[in-house]
Amino acid sequence: MAPYTGEEKHITVVGGGLAGSEAAWQLAMRGIAVTLFEMRPEVMTPAHRTGHLGELVCSNSLKAVRKDNASGILKKEMELGKSLILESAYKSRVPAGGALAVDRALMGERITDAIENHPNIEIRRELVQCIPQPPAIIATGPLTEGPLADELSSGAGVPLYFYDAIAPIVETDTIDHDHTFVASRWDEKKTKSSDPLKTEPDTTPSPSAEEPQRGDYINCPLSRDEYEAFVEDLLNADKVPPHPFEEPKYFEGCLPIEVMAARGPDVLRYGPMRPVGLRDPKTGRRPYAVIQLRAENSQGTAHNLVGFQTRLLYGEQKRIFKKIPALRNVNFLRLGSIHRNTYLRAPDCLNEDFTLKKAPGVRVTGLLCGVEGYMESTAMGWLTGVMAANELRAGNVLELPPVTTATGSLYAYIRRPRMKDEPFAPTNMNMSLLPPLESPGKKIKKSQRRLLTAERAEKDFESWLERINIDS
Ligand SMILES: Cc1cc2nc3c(=O)[nH]c(=O)nc-3n(C[C@H](O)[C@H](O)[C@H](O)COP(=O)(O)OP(=O)(O)OC[C@H]3O[C@@H](n4cnc5c(N)ncnc54)[C@H](O)[C@@H]3O)c2cc1C
Repeated sequence: MAPYTGEEKHITVVGGGLAGSEAAWQLAMRGIAVTLFEMRPEVMTPAHRTGHLGELVCSNSLKAVRKDNASGILKKEMELGKSLILESAYKSRVPAGGALAVDRALMGERITDAIENHPNIEIRRELVQCIPQPPAIIATGPLTEGPLADELSSGAGVPLYFYDAIAPIVETDTIDHDHTFVASRWDEKKTKSSDPLKTEPDTTPSPSAEEPQRGDYINCPLSRDEYEAFVEDLLNADKVPPHPFEEPKYFEGCLPIEVMAARGPDVLRYGPMRPVGLRDPKTGRRPYAVIQLRAENSQGTAHNLVGFQTRLLYGEQKRIFKKIPALRNVNFLRLGSIHRNTYLRAPDCLNEDFTLKKAPGVRVTGLLCGVEGYMESTAMGWLTGVMAANELRAGNVLELPPVTTATGSLYAYIRRPRMKDEPFAPTNMNMSLLPPLESPGKKIKKSQRRLLTAERAEKDFESWLERINIDS
C-alpha cells in the first residue's frame, strides 16, 4: 500500500448506500473529487432491489420527526448539516402520521440523480474486491459483498454479525376493505395508563357518520380469538433455519414477529400489533389487536405490514397472513426475509477519525462502523465525509461534535473503549445515549426533560457547525 500523505484532493468512496452516498455528497460539496464505487445493479445484495443509490432495504420509514424524540433530534442535526439523504426523504414523503415515511423508489431516484449530476463525483458500478488505496471511505454496509468482507473482518478479529429481517409488502387493491379501517394511532396520551392495553373500551366520542376517521394507516383489526390463533400459528410455523454454526442474534429494535410471539402471548399485542389509540368505527371500540399497513409509494398502490419482519418460510407466510380477514385474498409483492448483518468491532479496529488501524487513511462508516438504522448510518456517513473533506482541504483534524448532540453521542458510543470480553453491538439513536441535563433546577417532568435535551442538542450542534465552519 502506498504511503498516505494526506495531500490528495481526490477520494474513493466504496458503497453507494445511505452512508456512502451521504459521504460522497458532503465531500463533493466541499470541492473534493470523488470516485464512488457501487456494485449494484451488476452485483445485487440479497436485500436491495434496484440500482438506486441510497436505496432503503426494508421499512420505508425513517422514524419519528418529533423534535423531542431521539430520531427527531438526529434528523434536525442532519437538516442543519444539509444532508442529501434527509432532503431526498422529505421530498419523497408519504403520509405516515408523525413518522417520516417515503416512497422508496422516488427517494432512490432523487439521490441517484443528485449524485450522478454532481460534477465532482464519478460513479463506477463495480464490485470492489479489497481495501482501496487511501484516501478512501468504505461504506459497504451490513451486506458487504465479496473478498472485501473477509479482508475487513480479518482486521477486526472475529467477524461480527447480527440478523435483520424484512417485512412483507402487499398490493393495496387486493386488501379486503370490509375488514379494515383507516386511522393513524392518535393521541396516545389519552389512553396512557400503567397497562396501556387495559383501558378498553375506548370511551372517546365516535366521529359522526359524515366525518370519516382520518388517518394514514390501513388497520386490520383482530378479535381476541383471531389474535390467539395467529400467535399459535406463528409459534408452530416453519422458519428459515440459521446456518448451524451461527447463533441467531437479533437486533432488539427489529425482532421478527415469531421471535416476539415466542417471548409471550401478549408481546405482539404490546408491540407492532398494539391497538392503543385506535378505534374501529364499525364497533366503536378499540380492537383486541391490530395489524397496521403503511403506504409504500406515493400512489398508494402498495402497503407494507408495519413491524412484521419475519423469517417464516415463504409458504408459511402466505398461509398464516392470509388467515387475517383483511388479507384473505391479498397479493404479496414482497415476502419477509432475514439477512445476516456484518459489522466491525469499531472500538478495537478503528482510530478516532474512523480510519482503520490496519489501513491508514481508509475510513469505515455506516452500519459497518457500529450504528444501526437508516438515519444513524446516514449521520455517520455525513460525519465521515465532513471529516475527510476537512482533512483533505485544510490538513487538520476536525473538532468532534459534542456528545450532547445526537451525532456526537453516536460517535461517542462507537468510540467508547470496551474491555476485551465486553460485547459490542451496533446501536440506534435513543435518548439514553445523550448525557443527562446539567442541574435542571427544580424537578421537571420527563416530557419537559426530553424537550430541553433536544433543544440543547440543536443549540450545541449549531454552535459546533459554526466553529468548524461547515460551509467553507
Ligand atoms: C435486511 C435488512 C433490513 C434492514 N431494515 C432496516 C429498517 O427497516 N430500518 C432501518 O432503519 N434500518 C434497517 N436496516 C439496517 C440499516 O439501517 C441499513 O442496512 C442501512 O442501509 C445501512 O446503511 P449503510 O450505508 O451502512 O449500508 P447500505 O445502505 O447497505 O449501503 C451499502 C452499499 O454498498 C454496496 N456494496 C456492498 N459491498 C460492495 C462491494 N464489495 N463493492 C461495491 N459496493 C458494495 C451495496 O450494494 C450498498 O449499496 C436493515 C438492514 C438489513 C440488512
